Amino acid sequence: MKKILIVSLLAIVGCSQPKKAEDSTTEESKELNLYSQRHYDADKKVFDLFTQETGIKINLIRAGADELITRMEQEGENSPADVFFTVDAARLNRAKQKGLLQPIEVATNLAFSDPEKYWHGVTYRARVIAYDKEEVSVEDLSTYEDLADEKWLGKILIRSSSSGYNQSLLASMLYASDEEQTEAWATAIVKNMARSPEGGDRDQVKAIAAGIGTIAITNTYYVGLLLNSANPEEVKVGESVGIFFPNQEGRGTHVNVSGIGVTKNAPNKPNAIKFIEYVTSEKIQEIYANESFEYPVNPDVAPHPSVVAWGEFKADRLGFAEDISYTDNAVRIFDRAGWE
Ligand code: FE
Repeated sequence: MKKILIVSLLAIVGCSQPKKAEDSTTEESKELNLYSQRHYDADKKVFDLFTQETGIKINLIRAGADELITRMEQEGENSPADVFFTVDAARLNRAKQKGLLQPIEVATNLAFSDPEKYWHGVTYRARVIAYDKEEVSVEDLSTYEDLADEKWLGKILIRSSSSGYNQSLLASMLYASDEEQTEAWATAIVKNMARSPEGGDRDQVKAIAAGIGTIAITNTYYVGLLLNSANPEEVKVGESVGIFFPNQEGRGTHVNVSGIGVTKNAPNKPNAIKFIEYVTSEKIQEIYANESFEYPVNPDVAPHPSVVAWGEFKADRLGFAEDISYTDNAVRIFDRAGWE
């Protein structure tokens, strides 16, 4: 069995010549250079399986999406990157708009993909309200906008504004309204926070169980991870909260899409296409559904039972993600609102 090679960013910088697939004319390349923002255990398993089944070795470069985009721009035509894998549709569109990706046709009809096929969805995750089942009545919940109401003073738990998840959420709100209303919302949320932002989404849900606040904004899969954790304390935390999908009467709940694109000059393009087909196949979509509790984009695969139990929901369209100025503007609004 071949191992995934994890190459650190620093190790590659200053390397003489990035490997291009000159050999691909003479023999089939057995490598794939993957630039990924994802940080999940399930991915390691998926990459190992891909290597086992295809004999293609994955060279993984893991970093933030913006760092990877900058890196691909700096590397230019000689970039060794074959595929760009993110947890955020806005960053995929940023890469597309910068001319870093190329369109690829795939056989399966996947949810949440670029209409022009420059990138394809792999999984999606809803950004929901987790609420304390003892303290909050579901009748009091409705929309993201309603969280600005003073009835939530000192109750809301949400991570920092440096999170791409929050930036995309705010960008989606900006897309649905205007700058003034969006800034007023962000300012009100800062006021309603139970504490200054700290930790990731799971930490917000844990803070509900610890009695620090009663409402947390979180991606669904983090609650799935808690509910299915090997640690009984985490399972208890997961069980103590209800999941509410906001804005069902209107535009729908915000989702972040984890997706993948083939780079413009991919040196191992056939392998990149194989990889996209592989991660969206039923077999691998089941791993993403059942081990990282994300929603599969493949319509033939069901989410994990603990995710299904939250019910179906209407998702907001990704209008904001098509124009990266919404995300850039969201970052400035967070700053002005004093959202740490
Ligand atoms: Fe995450």
